[in-house]
Amino acid sequence: MSEERSLNFLEEIIEQDIREGKNQGRILTRFPPEPNGFLHIGHAKSICLNFGLAAQYNGKTNLRFDDTNPLTEDTRYVESIKEDISWLGFKWDKELYSSDYFEQLYQFALILIRKDKAYVDESTSEAIAVAKGTLTEPGVPTPGRLRSVAENLLLFNEMKQGKYADGEMVLRAKIDLASPNMQMRDPLMYRIRHARHHRTANKWFIYPMYDFTHGQSDSLENITHSVCTLEFVTHRDLYNWFIKELDIFPSQQYEFARLNVNYTVMSKRKLLQLVNEGFVSGWDDPRMPTISGLRRRGYTPASIRNFCEKIGIAKRENIIEYSLLEFCIREDLNKTAWRRMAVLDPIKMVITNYPADVSEDMVGENNPEADGGEGYRNLPFCKDLWIERDDFMEEPSKKFFRLGVGLMVRLKHAYIVKCDSFLKDKNNKITEVHCTYIPESRSGSDTSGINVKGTIHWVSALHAKIAEIRLYDHLFQIEDLSGEEADFKEYINPESLTSLSNAFIEPDLGNAINGKSYQFIRKGYFTLDSDSLPGNLIFNRTVTLKDASSKGNKKI
Ligand code: ATP
Ligand code: MG
Repeated sequence: MSEERSLNFLEEIIEQDIREGKNQGRILTRFPPEPNGFLHIGHAKSICLNFGLAAQYNGKTNLRFDDTNPLTEDTRYVESIKEDISWLGFKWDKELYSSDYFEQLYQFALILIRKDKAYVDESTSEAIAVAKGTLTEPGVPTPGRLRSVAENLLLFNEMKQGKYADGEMVLRAKIDLASPNMQMRDPLMYRIRHARHHRTANKWFIYPMYDFTHGQSDSLENITHSVCTLEFVTHRDLYNWFIKELDIFPSQQYEFARLNVNYTVMSKRKLLQLVNEGFVSGWDDPRMPTISGLRRRGYTPASIRNFCEKIGIAKRENIIEYSLLEFCIREDLNKTAWRRMAVLDPIKMVITNYPADVSEDMVGENNPEADGGEGYRNLPFCKDLWIERDDFMEEPSKKFFRLGVGLMVRLKHAYIVKCDSFLKDKNNKITEVHCTYIPESRSGSDTSGINVKGTIHWVSALHAKIAEIRLYDHLFQIEDLSGEEADFKEYINPESLTSLSNAFIEPDLGNAINGKSYQFIRKGYFTLDSDSLPGNLIFNRTVTLKDASSKGNKKI
């Protein structure tokens, strides 16, 4: 824990529990994903919180797959979830599955039926909903509520044997149809599903509901602090009721606010629609707020952990700015990324007074932020170079400190050049810029005495490699999508991906390493995309160098 900040409410609770000797000071948390999609940045918040609290208080964290819905869950998601948690830098104690407790949960249900605390109800779901009443009207019993224990045991057993069709009947807890908490008005415990489960295959025809699974799973594992998001506040009474009626280990539930980030959606259900309907290339599309998308985009585990630490833990829902995530990755990559040069939108520069058949090696530090610069790389220089199209202006304005006829700039790590003329094609498009170089101005041994205001990046046309560069913008055009249930896809930003297929990169980038970040000078932080091949290099821009809102640097 950092020294500067005060304790958050969960730390306060845990410290008090430790002071009071509760559970002999033992702390056991869990992260309970449902394997029905890939993890997103909201899950990262929950992971950092659960694993972080345990680490802070000498505790442990279980990874429990909450796999009680056979229709949506898949082993593929289990694998991706494990990969993402490990990548974030956390180690779980036990890997567990709610489905491993199916037999035990069934036994728990029998206990409640025998206590006349649960009953089989064959009312339709609509009838059950109506009979539950409203916040101002108490509920009324459905016929099933009067059934005898013996008959409930028989019917529940037949449900288990697969005798009834999906939806034909359910098992409900018998609690209080007049409770002010609607969750306590005889909630469902089991439903029938004739479906293959990703782990138990065709063994079960009945599946426990979330509320009859979560708390008991916590209890079976002796979880001390069960941290979940605010929408479960109203489920807490039920969580405690089952534990009390079954007389099992009293795990405690605590709630915090979900993480929302602007310009994106944070729900596996919605993210799945984006994948299935082709709005993105997959769960790991670099525009997705998934852990795998952020990883492919070039985010580091440290930047995501730092983001989760910075936003803290709230008790009320709010929307965090995407730019905070960008701030965290810039802060990290500035210290570690190797500097390279790449020209994204090229025009040719010809140095007319440089010999045609010569090239010389300039040198550039890999990382000026690191002690010793982490070594150097060679930058071949010759007569024909590529420079960025927008570093030249036909009629430069007064404050334009780059190239125009008569203006001088320094070519980074190389010489000062002066622009003499340019060529255009028949469409009035600039094709070549002609310059002369000042031989005495070589970087590191400059005796020219000339001071120039601008420095631009370049690559040697003879030595450069070609690459595709993918630039990203927000996936959605509006900041707050929380109210846009049905039509959130209408707000997709049609310009969220810009692909530049004709960029030139310095030769050393031909050896770029997967998973490593590079700062393309003046252009942002980039990393190789997973689609990249040795002969077909593709780089993703992770983030620009500066916040777009503070400087017009978002698009090239
Ligand atoms: P989604 O709506 O995206 O499917 P979920 O809550 O249904 O999310 P689970 O797999 O059930 O997804 O979540 C696992 C854990 O992650 C839960 O404890 C849940 O509370 C937490 N979690 C999910 N989304 C967020 C979020 N946006 N912010 C913080 N915690 C989250
Ligand atoms: Mg869920």
